[in-house]
Amino acid sequence: MLDLKALDLAHIWHPCTQMKDHETLPLIPIQSAKGVYLYDFDGKSFIDGISSWWVNLFGHCNPIINTAIVQQLEQLEHIILAGFSHEGIITYSKRLCALLPQSLQKCFYADNGSSAVEVALKMSFHSHYNAGNKEKNAFLSLANAYHGETLGALSVGDVGLYKSAYKPLLLEALNTPVPSGMWNPNDNTINGDYHREIEALEQILKKHAHRICAFILEPLLQCAGGMNMYPSAYVQEACVLAQKYNIHIIFDEIAVGFGRTGSMFALEQCDVVPDFLCLSKGITGGYLPLSVVVTSDSIYQGFYAPYEEQKGFLHSHSYTGNALAIAAANAVLNIFEQDNTLLSNRSLSAAIAKQWSMLSKHKKVSNVRVCGMVFAFDLIGCRFARAGLYVYEQALEKGVLLRPLGNTIYFMPPYIISLELAEYVCGVLDNILENEF
Ligand SMILES: *Cc1c(COP(=O)(O)O)cnc(C)c1O
Repeated sequence: MLDLKALDLAHIWHPCTQMKDHETLPLIPIQSAKGVYLYDFDGKSFIDGISSWWVNLFGHCNPIINTAIVQQLEQLEHIILAGFSHEGIITYSKRLCALLPQSLQKCFYADNGSSAVEVALKMSFHSHYNAGNKEKNAFLSLANAYHGETLGALSVGDVGLYKSAYKPLLLEALNTPVPSGMWNPNDNTINGDYHREIEALEQILKKHAHRICAFILEPLLQCAGGMNMYPSAYVQEACVLAQKYNIHIIFDEIAVGFGRTGSMFALEQCDVVPDFLCLSKGITGGYLPLSVVVTSDSIYQGFYAPYEEQKGFLHSHSYTGNALAIAAANAVLNIFEQDNTLLSNRSLSAAIAKQWSMLSKHKKVSNVRVCGMVFAFDLIGCRFARAGLYVYEQALEKGVLLRPLGNTIYFMPPYIISLELAEYVCGVLDNILENEF
């Protein structure tokens, strides 16, 4: 057999990876996947405990999604979306809008999360510009935020690891502190005091609101920012405040959308209607790249004018609204309906949470927390600087894929995982945490 690992390393520069790590860290070519399992070429299996970077909702090679894509493939694979359209995307847009607050009714498609963030930032700026407000040219985001890796998205992010080197290239972004909540296992809520964060926001707004286009945030849960769960009431108050100052709200639900936090969209729990909603990741069940920005008719109308006035939003991506990706996205909504996923997730989440919270008995474990189908804790007081990496390697040996964010360990499985397998994963972590590291 070909030495796939050597060939891979000869030609592939992997994402979000210090490639030198692979001198010691195993690289794992995967031959096939089914349900929550990935299988390598030696027949070893891995439970996909991170939904393959948070995209996979209903398992790998899901028969319903597979069938939908194959059917679509026989009919239409991809077409230009300017001047043309297709039935799948029309149906999908209608279905998606029906799941959202009434005012969100215009869908602009792109093909990955970062691009959706770029679209929302540009649209917000351009909308103010079209309305004659030429002063607004900056964005406001939360401390510790992550919104993607392209330059605009990186600008509104605040994770130094990804951002520092590129600072000279970035747009101006203002940063307001984010609260950190505590999980209450009894009523499964995230609570915490956030009045200082609101005060800080108010100070920034008083001083800078005239030049801020939009406030972008991940409602409820900052995922790449170390699974920071924070109170919905903060999101509500902060957004109401920003809106008073004529600032758009952009909700980045790229990671938290499609049921991850317990409701179909996190905005439902925050009781906020954003001006722009960015969705991607789970949108196709982890099959194909797709993203969408949903906005209101009133934003849309601000661009609607005779061509000569040059108010149009002339942004595009080649693969915008790809028909195969849309077929997967429609199938994902079908599964949510057929399986009543949100309801079954509620009991699954509660049952996993019980096991997960028991991990707090370990001295190295702090801030155990749960939000919907996201389970996290932080490692503290470890001897190894890269303790998270140690857990990653140990878990792999036990057939579990967990990819910690620094020293934050999280479990974010596909929704179809059985309670038994989820308990197995908790057991694997329980064992690892007994080790000296
Ligand atoms: C993953 C992610 C993005 C970027 O999406 P890509 O498809 O990786 O470009 C943006 N925002 C959030 C919150 C994300 O989790």
